Amino acid sequence: MTTRVLYMEDRQGQEPDPCYVREFDATVVEQGPDFVVLDQTAFYAEGGGQPYDTGALSWSGGEAKVLRVTKEKGVIRHHLDRLPPVGPVHGIIDWDRRYAHMRYHTSQHLLSGLVWRIYAARTVGNQLYADRARVDFQPASFMPEDLTRIEAECNRAIEAAHEVRIFQEDRVVVDSKIGDRSLLDLIPASIRRLRVIQVGTADYCPCGGTHLKNTSRTYCAARHGGWGCC
Ligand SMILES: [Zn+2]
Repeated sequence: MTTRVLYMEDRQGQEPDPCYVREFDATVVEQGPDFVVLDQTAFYAEGGGQPYDTGALSWSGGEAKVLRVTKEKGVIRHHLDRLPPVGPVHGIIDWDRRYAHMRYHTSQHLLSGLVWRIYAARTVGNQLYADRARVDFQPASFMPEDLTRIEAECNRAIEAAHEVRIFQEDRVVVDSKIGDRSLLDLIPASIRRLRVIQVGTADYCPCGGTHLKNTSRTYCAARHGGWGCC
């Protein structure tokens, strides 16, 4: 049985927003040597350049640290320092770490979408952490003035406070809209409906990640003058 992923639920104005679920109730359905599988989870499993979430699981009479979260064929494993019995548990995500990942990931959508639109350079890789992130473009031969322009375009999109929309769309429609922006070939052909992220006019791309609600939240200049620190 595949794990129900709570942050993947459709964004329909519900509170909390699916990507902002920090705590949830679930049931342990399988135990491994150092992990459990739950019927549903809000923990992000490592993938797509975004690290796994950490946090805790608690149950009647005990608590465990969630050390690592992995995914295989739709089944999400929570690797723990001790195992709960089969039955109900309560999950709590380390929100500082996850929220930093959401800010970098949403920023990456902005950057990737703008660089695609301006330079027709495709994003071929990315890796983010809680304190920094990297994006790989192909072809990439940016001059200093190009980098200045990219930074200015990104800052304009942040100041415009674009809504980040998440919705389902037919694969043929997505294919016709994005051209070579994203490697649709990597998604199994059997999947006909895709989860699409639209960041104002800056980006439109299929994605299974965790996202902010608005681009204005990517930047915290007012408080600390930096990226992703609060
Ligand atoms: Zn995304």
